[in-house]
Amino acid sequence: MIDVLPQPGPPRDIRRLFEAQRAAYAGERHPSLAQRHDRLERLATMTEAHEQDIIAAIATDFGTRPAQETRIAELFVISAGIRHTRRNLNRWMAQQRVPTPLYLWPGRSRVHRQPLGVVGVISPWNYPVQLALLPALAALAAGNRVMLKPSELTPRTSALLEHMVAKHFSEDEFAVVTGGPDVGDKFSHLPFDHLFFTGSTAVGRKIALAAAANLTPVTLELGGKSPALIHADADFGMVAPRLATGKLLNAGQTCIAPDYALVPASRVDALAAAIRDSAASQYPSFRENPDYSSIVNDGHFRRLTALIDDAVQKGARAIALGSGDTATHMPDRKLAPTVLVGVKDSMAVMNEEIFGPVLPIEAYDSLDQAIEKINARPRPLSLYMFGGDEAARRSVLDRTTAGGVTIDDTLWHFTNENLPFGGIGASGIGAYHGERGFLTFTHQKAVFIQPRLSFTWMLRPPYGKRFDRVFELLKKIS
Ligand code: NAD
Repeated sequence: MIDVLPQPGPPRDIRRLFEAQRAAYAGERHPSLAQRHDRLERLATMTEAHEQDIIAAIATDFGTRPAQETRIAELFVISAGIRHTRRNLNRWMAQQRVPTPLYLWPGRSRVHRQPLGVVGVISPWNYPVQLALLPALAALAAGNRVMLKPSELTPRTSALLEHMVAKHFSEDEFAVVTGGPDVGDKFSHLPFDHLFFTGSTAVGRKIALAAAANLTPVTLELGGKSPALIHADADFGMVAPRLATGKLLNAGQTCIAPDYALVPASRVDALAAAIRDSAASQYPSFRENPDYSSIVNDGHFRRLTALIDDAVQKGARAIALGSGDTATHMPDRKLAPTVLVGVKDSMAVMNEEIFGPVLPIEAYDSLDQAIEKINARPRPLSLYMFGGDEAARRSVLDRTTAGGVTIDDTLWHFTNENLPFGGIGASGIGAYHGERGFLTFTHQKAVFIQPRLSFTWMLRPPYGKRFDRVFELLKKIS
């Protein structure tokens, strides 16, 4: 633990850093298992040693961010990721044997897993440590050098990341560069061997364009409107607390938070009441409550209140916890958890990612119609389904497309390192976590080993009967 949280350091020469990392990679193209374990060990030591600093820095940046939320949604996720990687790294690094078809016998085939080189990571503010260090963990485990550009909207946390990483890693192994969109823009134009971006869809497009100029492959972890589809037979006693938790963790500033709920028309009011009650039992008050996070800054607070106002002006009913007089809570940026009923497509809240503690409830008449509504919007990062029998669940899984799904709860698919995590379409490109993350930062090199005894000479010129006979045989045994 450190006495005083660090301030952001002076601007760094990112081109020089990049060249230093590239030179270090050239001198060590395939780090051993022991070297990679050492880096993971240092990552673990760094996060453990600075646990209290991380909690304090994030709380300072947000205003209120409960230590428990930072412990579970940032520190626990990182340490679970490190443990899972340590346990499996040996196997992931190994050459993979693959079958060789009969017509290539007696040759043998392998996939050789190789680091990519120098990797760039750009991360957002909402889980500012976890979303910075989890991609870095996967990239280091895969044997790469890593440059990280965290968000300027959480400046104390980004400065702390810079400080901690510099203490535990040499700058040609893993380095942090702080700054805003201008630095991000320069960063994204570096000729990285892979660029991993987490953030908004709008900035994701810019990243893809910048990377294209260098033919740098990208992973884009973006956002969107993740639906919670509630089946007609769902038990609200189970649904409401789980939905409220998913929506109100970090005051809804979670990329995989359920964005809106879809519920049979006859049950809209009952769901609104159940969620209000669940939210009230989890957060008996919200203004002075240390368990309830602040909205990260005034701009986002205003954006959220404008979304509520727009919906109300266009005919929605807002049911807020507490007084509901959110405008007066600006100094601490605590926004009352708000349910919106009677929402329509013309409202802004149904057209953009909410990213805050506001839950619109949209009515549907049949499961088919609910599926159509989901498919009419851009492909979401997550989908949640509550209730329904096996056939209904199967139908929803087969007929909708989303990055990931949790059934009968929210958020939890994110935490299983054995599941790939990523979006699709407008919610992202590529995935990470566990072995999928290792592979994102690994080149899978195809290797075919031809033995001394080989029959391929029979296919060489001069072409004639021999070629025709062997070729016929090849076709039969392929
Ligand atoms: P953002 O896109 O505004 O910023 C993300 C990062 O990009 C920051 O570090 C920022 O400095 C940088 N940046 C901004 N402009 C840039 C530019 N022109 N060139 C290069 N870099 C630039 O996103 P945000 O507001 O920090 O985060 C919120 C968004 O992130 C939401 O849409 C949310 O859904 C999404 N998100 C997705 C995931 C996921 O895992 N898929 C996780 C968290 C957040």
